[in-house]
Amino acid sequence: MDGKEVARLIRAEVAASVNQMSVRPALATVLVGDDPASATYVLSKRRAISDAGIVDAHRHVSQDHNQGSVAAIIDELVLDDSVTGILLQLPLPDHLDSASLINRIPPHKDVDGLTEANAGRLLLGQHGLAPCTPAGVLALLDHYDIDLFGAEVVVIGRSNLVGRPLGQLLLRRHATVTMCHSRTRDLPRLCRRADVLITAAGVPGLVTASAVKVGATVIDVGINRTEHGLCGDVAFGEVMPRVHAITPVPGGVGPMTIAMLLRNTVTAAHESIRV
Ligand code: NAP
Repeated sequence: MDGKEVARLIRAEVAASVNQMSVRPALATVLVGDDPASATYVLSKRRAISDAGIVDAHRHVSQDHNQGSVAAIIDELVLDDSVTGILLQLPLPDHLDSASLINRIPPHKDVDGLTEANAGRLLLGQHGLAPCTPAGVLALLDHYDIDLFGAEVVVIGRSNLVGRPLGQLLLRRHATVTMCHSRTRDLPRLCRRADVLITAAGVPGLVTASAVKVGATVIDVGINRTEHGLCGDVAFGEVMPRVHAITPVPGGVGPMTIAMLLRNTVTAAHESIRV
């Protein structure tokens, strides 16, 4: 499954819809400190934003800002009607409380879908902005016509960022969802049941061929930096011959995350007009 290509199509769709809007959406990415990985992620998000015709309202805040001063910057963006989406890049420096800062963002500007309000809406099956990586997984499955209705789907990982919201999105689509985590007993036995196996654990080589049903679809959300370069959680070489479809790492779910950020930004801009 070619995440790069599907992401390219979605990005083109987003650019076309931005082009039709009378007021251009504006996304404020907020980067606190100088963590190189976070800076790289933010830069690639900003490039994608500009390519789609969205206004880049980026803010870079130095590491020495305290909770109150970062909160004040977010509050300013919340009150600014020209800013239609806000993204606080995680992880934040240790002296800051991420949850309370994220929850200052109103749900209609929460393009990352990480506020308690949007998480609650997802849990209750209500309309809201969903986190980008789980939404990207669904978009990829849809693009390749993988049927989720009544399917056995096993998700490895239960983080608030990926596994948990993904489980909710899959339930909405009438999949039978099994959530696995580090305390799950006999993980391979559960994985072998899966018509669709999704791993978001961050453990290289976690999913081997013997844990995958022949003809299954495998989505690898994991991104692991090893001495041989980037890899996912799946032992790709041995698993690929058994499956119906599989995502590579890199080039699978990763590009979808940014594409869904752009889609959420357009949705948020429409919401902002309504609020
Ligand atoms: P996280 O917060 O560390 O969560 C990892 C989850 O995996 C936890 O629920 C953990 O279980 C579970 N887990 C860890 N080791 C396991 C094992 N041996 N067996 C079964 N479950 C295990 O990580 P995350 O933020 O969700 O990210 C997960 C992975 O996805 C990482 O590699 C990350 O880099 C990648 N990621 C990729 C994208 C993308 O765009 N492609 C976006 C976000 C994240 P416990 O809950 O019991 O600890």
